Amino acid sequence: MGNKNGHLCEVGITNYEIVNPPRSAYLHIPFCHKRCFYCDFSIIPIGDSTGVAGNKGIKSINSYLDLLHREISITPNGPPLSTIYLGGGTPSLLNKDEVCDLLDHLQKKFGFQNGAEVTMEVDPATFSENDLKEYIKIGINRLSMGAQSFDDRTLASIGRKHKRDELIEACRWVNKLFKKGFLMSWSLDLIENLPGSNLDQWSLELEQAVLTEAPHLSIYDLTIEPETVFGRKHKKGELNIPSESMAISINLKTTNFLKSKGFSRYEISSYSLPCHASRHNRMYWSGSGWWGFGMGATSAPWGKRFARPRTIMGYKKWVEEQENKEVEPSLLENPSNKMPLDELLMIGLRRREGVHIEELAKYSGWTEEKCNLKLKLLERYWQDCLHKGFLIQKNGRFFLSDPNGMQISNQILVLMFMWWDSLDLHECS
Ligand code: SF4
Repeated sequence: MGNKNGHLCEVGITNYEIVNPPRSAYLHIPFCHKRCFYCDFSIIPIGDSTGVAGNKGIKSINSYLDLLHREISITPNGPPLSTIYLGGGTPSLLNKDEVCDLLDHLQKKFGFQNGAEVTMEVDPATFSENDLKEYIKIGINRLSMGAQSFDDRTLASIGRKHKRDELIEACRWVNKLFKKGFLMSWSLDLIENLPGSNLDQWSLELEQAVLTEAPHLSIYDLTIEPETVFGRKHKKGELNIPSESMAISINLKTTNFLKSKGFSRYEISSYSLPCHASRHNRMYWSGSGWWGFGMGATSAPWGKRFARPRTIMGYKKWVEEQENKEVEPSLLENPSNKMPLDELLMIGLRRREGVHIEELAKYSGWTEEKCNLKLKLLERYWQDCLHKGFLIQKNGRFFLSDPNGMQISNQILVLMFMWWDSLDLHECS
């Protein structure tokens, strides 16, 4: 069914697209009803009153959208887009006209390729079945549902607004539209290793996720950020998170269970049925460039990253500066804006197919002699991981084994950064 609907199968997109110009855009929609206890994203909590004309939430949304449009207008031109992603925040707090205006603006600015993947994040309890149909009519063809958990007690304990029943109903609406061919694909997000998690409870979450028939699942490990409710509780020892061994068992359960249901793990946190890998996600991990728009959004159109201010006042000031002065240098095509090698390795290693380090090193300008020398040194840093099978080397590629290597990906990356820091950067650049 995938190819018929214009999906890009995973086969054939394993090359590095590091020299390609940006063909993707991320738009950040920062509004949420309230801040979830684990979240440190750049968001604006607007309470429950978005539907009432003249209220504070509506005014904030209007003035933010004005800034977003102004930012799109002043961005340099680029080739037609093949993936567009509206993330947040909670993009489904926007009505269809607001989303339509943003898509129209992007289309006029860059154009869209035929079959472009246009994804929007949606949160249960922020839209109706009819809203979804409206979003689809204006060009959204992939939805990503922020589920996080199907358990009411867990949802309340992490500060989510929606309830299990609302989530299940929302998934039913989305899946119905998908099965009728109105969506290319859809995805569900869950968080594993939340406080109070155990294997039995997590098994129920996974079973329920598969029952929704979502062809793509993003399973994130809870990260405890210091400036959050969870961060503060954790500091006081009040957060009952699973032990390290329990977390490993939960992670193992995820990968084994989803594999038994036909999902493949194409990236550390991403599982898909055949031909349902997210093209936008894969773009990030391939090292390709992308445009980013909005408060706190990161862009790297030609490789070099740039993060916009994370507060609304900071973002407003930045947009005004862009309008009055020269445009941010990383947005301009320039060989010095290439992505550095350590970053290419870091993102590439997240993917199932890993990285061909020698190819990347040569792309970064290393001579063959330099490559041989430096890569031998890297292999020494990774010797233990290679020996224990966490990291696999095959036909010039290095990739993490699943699940063991993916479980300790951070440790493997730390070793890579230690190698990077040990190099004479002047000599290697
Ligand atoms: S809905 Fe998402 S972006 Fe908004 S506060 Fe919760 S986790 Fe953060």
